[in-house]
Order: sequence, then structure tokens, then C-alpha cells
Amino acid sequence: MNPHTAHPIEENDMTITDTPLTEEGAAPAVPAYHLAGVTKTYAQKGRVVQALKRVDLDILAGDFVTIQGPTGGGKSTLLQLLGALDTPTAGQVMIGATDLATASRSELERVRASEIGFVFQAFNLIPTLTAAENVAMGLEPLGLDRAERSARVADALERVGLAERADHRPGELSGGQQQRVAIARAIAKRPRVLLADEPTGNLDESMRDEILAVLGALNADGLTLVVVTHDSAVAQRARRRVRLDKGIVRDITR
Ligand code: ADP
Ligand code: MG
Repeated sequence: MNPHTAHPIEENDMTITDTPLTEEGAAPAVPAYHLAGVTKTYAQKGRVVQALKRVDLDILAGDFVTIQGPTGGGKSTLLQLLGALDTPTAGQVMIGATDLATASRSELERVRASEIGFVFQAFNLIPTLTAAENVAMGLEPLGLDRAERSARVADALERVGLAERADHRPGELSGGQQQRVAIARAIAKRPRVLLADEPTGNLDESMRDEILAVLGALNADGLTLVVVTHDSAVAQRARRRVRLDKGIVRDITR
């Protein structure tokens, strides 16, 4: 046996053995996002606005990250990049294994349709449709057959605690229940990541707690959460807290 050909194999074995394990000793931690030197510039009435300035950020699969900071700090801009809804002016954005800069349009469509769920401050439900029909809207791009679609709708409503309200229209539901329908619509596609922009901004305290309980349960089931929030009660539930001010990101986890 030639020792020179055997050697690299040993090295490969070492590399695999040396891969860090999570605390449970299970699979290695998988990155949901890797951002390096991300800058986003807008031209606004002849003025240049730097919404993000050389942002470096890594988010692991299964994490629960909140993004806080003043209005205009760049939070929504960052969320748009994480959602593959926009591209950076400079720098690298990796969504799992997909590089925003080099991915084809159809690859980005696939990522948006099946890997990322969105929730906003406004529930954006269609008032004439039932809860179940609203949730089914989130599945449209996937082209599932009817049986699979209704199984997923029922499962998503169950996970947000609204199985009994499937036939109710938004006007017959409280604000907290409407936001839970919006969450069900976002998770019915079974995304890897849920992005939320001020999900409790329109809700009173008890409804906010309802949403927090749902988000906590989804995260416990392995869903990665990135939540923009002004609400410190929401941020307290996160595993990791990030502040975004004037386009500069800072980790403020204590
Ligand atoms: P936040 O969500 O933290 O309030 P944004 O990401 O919405 O902040 O905005 C960051 C900065 O970028 C602000 O100065 C805002 O005016 C500017 N901005 C955001 N979106 C656009 C856009 N589409 N065109 C021009 N300027 C924008
Ligand atoms: Mg915003």
C-alpha cells in the first residue's frame, strides 16, 4: 500500500470525527443563514441611504433570534434579504446552501415558496375567505394535490391552536386569532425559517402572549425564527438578540 495515497483518507476521517457536535451529541449545527459584509444602499431623492452597513451575521438552524432597534435602523431591509425578496448591494447572503448573488431566478422562487414563511404586523388575511381558505393560499405556489393541501391546512391550524376555527372568517376572530391564522398560512408550506416583522405590533398584551406561546412551540419543534420586534417581552423569549441601529448590527444577547 502506498502511504501517500492512504494519508489523505486518514485526514478526511479526522475531519469528520472532529466536526463539532451539538450538546445533545446529535448532528452538527447547520447554518440557516450566513451574511458577510452585507451592505444595502438605496437611492432616495438623489440622496444615498445606507440601510445596512457591512453586516456580518450567522444564524443557526433551530435558533430563535430577535432583531430590535429604532425605526429606520434597517430591520425590514435585513428581513427582506433573509426572505430572498431583495439582493444586497455588496456582500454575501447565504440562505442555507443558496447564495443570493448567484442563485437562478427559479431557485430563488423555490426558496421563497417552500423554505421561508413570512408574518407581518398587519395580518393580511382575505376577509371573504375562511381561516382554512386563507391558510390554503400560502400553499398555492407548491401545486399540491387537494388531499395533501387539506392535510397541511388542518395540521397548520392545529399547530396554532385553531383547529376549531377553520370555518370562521377573519371578522369573526380576535386579533390574536387572526395573527395565528397568518402564522398557520406561513407554516403550512413547512418552511425551515419563519421571518416575522413586528408580529405583535397590533396586539394587546394577552394576545401577544398567545402569539409568543405559538412561536415558542414552533421553535421547540425545530423551526428557525427571526423576529423583528419593539416588544421586550418578545425579545426576552429569544435565544439570541441582535440590535440594528443605523444599519450596523450588534449582538446584545446577555
Ligand atoms: P426599519 O425596518 O428598521 O424601520 P428599514 O429597513 O425600513 O428600517 O429602513 C432603513 C433605511 O432605509 C431608512 O432610512 C429607510 O428610509 C430606507 N429605505 C428602506 N427601504 C427603502 C426603499 N425601498 N427605498 C429607499 N429607501 C429605503
Ligand atoms: Mg421596519
